[in-house]
Amino acid sequence: GETLHIIGGGMAGSEAAWQAANMGVSVVIHEMRPKTGTFAHRTGHLAEMVCSNSFRSDDHERNAVGLLHWEMRQAGGLIIDTADSHRLPAGSALAVDRDPFAESVTARLLAHPLVSVTGDEVTGLPSSGHWIVATGPLTSPPLAAAIRAATGADALAFFDAIAPIVYAESVDMSVAWRQSRYDKGETEEERTAYVNCPLDRERYEAFLDALLAAETAAFHSGEESSAPDATPYFDGCLPIEVMAERGRDTLRFGPMKPVGLTNAHRPETKPYAVVQLRRDNALGTLYNIVGFQTKMKYGAQTDVLRMIPGLEAARFARLGGMHRNTFINSPTLLDGAMRLKARPNIRFAGQITGVEGYVESAAMGLLAGRMAAAEILGRGIPPPPPDTAMGALVTHITGGAEAKTFQPMNVNFGLFPPIDAKGGRRGRKDRYKAYTDRAKSAFSQWVAEQG
Ligand code: FAD
Repeated sequence: GETLHIIGGGMAGSEAAWQAANMGVSVVIHEMRPKTGTFAHRTGHLAEMVCSNSFRSDDHERNAVGLLHWEMRQAGGLIIDTADSHRLPAGSALAVDRDPFAESVTARLLAHPLVSVTGDEVTGLPSSGHWIVATGPLTSPPLAAAIRAATGADALAFFDAIAPIVYAESVDMSVAWRQSRYDKGETEEERTAYVNCPLDRERYEAFLDALLAAETAAFHSGEESSAPDATPYFDGCLPIEVMAERGRDTLRFGPMKPVGLTNAHRPETKPYAVVQLRRDNALGTLYNIVGFQTKMKYGAQTDVLRMIPGLEAARFARLGGMHRNTFINSPTLLDGAMRLKARPNIRFAGQITGVEGYVESAAMGLLAGRMAAAEILGRGIPPPPPDTAMGALVTHITGGAEAKTFQPMNVNFGLFPPIDAKGGRRGRKDRYKAYTDRAKSAFSQWVAEQG
């Protein structure tokens, strides 16, 4: 039979390959790493987790991501099954041991008799054959240019800012204290979810001077060519140095605002500004600096950040930076079977379709793999019903979303058709349970229909 070609062996491409091969279709994965890298990937493994090691909530009764886990298990998903095998203790989240996880996904695909992997970077959109493009947010520049050429102005690339992440144990808690703004939260854990670092006026002014003097990095190598003239920063993710340039008080009224917080060590003094750190993983070992996305060069960045009281000896798990996030305008470009309307031999899957996150990307790979294999085998598969998590997501990206303002989307109950709240208003938790019950029966039926 015909071969399915998949460009990119990340979360989506790996899952798509597994699904198609298990339906009896031979698959070639074209993965450019390790020969050609990206700024975020470190290894040559398939399905490398570039940043956090969490697949988020595993609560399949009251959480939309947990429900997506459940559906992927139901559909024999490779990513979720391998994640389950390399699970780390993390409360209700599904955190995994990232290197053994990626090694195991790679080994399982290589061991599949119908799967092969080539190490080439694909630089254009093939005009014949069955293809899935699953090259992710860091799609290599030549391929991104080819996609843009084939899809016109609807193909987008924007720049996402990331904030630095600090190792919790390196924060000086004799200076910093735990408190959520206005003590918000229902549980003690929520009321103490943030770590706060106080600055008096003098320290704030010195910090600002250093920030304004710090050297900033150009875009990561290979990204300059695709950087538009005016970088489209999104409101709410302006780099701190850009905010600082707008005025000496901008940060103090923005991410460094001191309101709703009382210094636990010196309750009598009112801080002039406060830097907040928010827990970044379930283990509580990592904290990200809230609103501190930055393009400062790495050396300058650590020097400037260590001027913040409490962070003098901070060690960083990741420094801030800007990265490209390539995705297409799926609502206008893709049909309901995830095919490029203008070139139906090409499907898209993963983050490049405008979903956001490891889990969502793997789920869209699962669908694209099944749909492509079914097409090769001469049968069709309807998309999963819109009241399932997978169906809600694919419905959103292929038509439900507003095309003009289309932005990458996480799975959430807002994408589901509303539950008819007969018998009065239900509590939110009951409502979520009703959503997941409904989804599970619809999804099980969808899987069963495919045999
Ligand atoms: P990827 O997993 O990135 O896989 C794409 C693959 O395609 C890569 O292996 C790449 O090497 C390959 N490739 C690219 N171009 C070509 C080409 N031309 N030819 C051949 N191969 C090619 N999501 C989360 O859930 N949690 C996080 O903490 C998180 N942090 C992130 C941090 C950064 C810096 C970035 C960029 C993204 C982050 N994401 C995070 C989003 C996450 O990357 C995606 O959700 C997920 O990895 C996307 O899966 P994917 O399969 O679409 O792409």
